[in-house]
Amino acid sequence: MSAKILVVEDEEKLARFVELELIHEGYEVRTEGSGRAALAEALAGSYDLILLDIMLPELNGLEVLRRLKKEKDTPVILLTARDAVMDKVSGLDAGAVDYVTKPFAIEELLARIRVALKLHPRQDGNVQGVQTTSEGMLVWGPLTMDIPRHRVTMNGHEIPLTNREFLMLRTLLENMDIVLSRDTLLEKVCGYEYAGETNVIDVYIRYLRSKIDDVFDVHMIRTVRGVGYVINKWEA
Ligand code: CA
Repeated sequence: MSAKILVVEDEEKLARFVELELIHEGYEVRTEGSGRAALAEALAGSYDLILLDIMLPELNGLEVLRRLKKEKDTPVILLTARDAVMDKVSGLDAGAVDYVTKPFAIEELLARIRVALKLHPRQDGNVQGVQTTSEGMLVWGPLTMDIPRHRVTMNGHEIPLTNREFLMLRTLLENMDIVLSRDTLLEKVCGYEYAGETNVIDVYIRYLRSKIDDVFDVHMIRTVRGVGYVINKWEA
């Protein structure tokens, strides 16, 4: 499952444009046009990020934000009018992680979304679908990752992994259903000091797929175009 984004915008053309761009980037998107409906949806649903316009009918964006934050920690990026300095300040005070001023270039919005998702990974969905046993095992369907023994098996067959392949697989499994960017993976797998190319991540993904997906005929590691990689919950 890719990252889920709730777009709250009452200008229909703009909402539709943003929705299409986000879908094109591989996100799962829902749009709401009123503050009240948006708040209900944000509270009921499970979103990785909310894009929230401030000027909305029924309940304005800042009020939606304040009420949402009492219940949930979903990251919110505000869409504000140019020069609405007070809105920006109030919004950040109320817990928004960022804001984008209208009219915006879609590339800027997409970049801020990527940053927000990276800095605020979803908490509640973290290890759903992965069972973590007391012995430090991660279990994804037929695959078992024995962390202390540094051993990965699929249906009992051992899969030989290098240290970095192991770390990569572990990171993806521990962040089940969260799309991790190449930069995030790079930090986890190669460390902060790593100064090489981020495409080294693609290379490790290829190695992992050749050892797991290809051999055992599963579709474990998914590519989310323009975003990164994810392992979704095991589905039998
Ligand atoms: Ca509006």
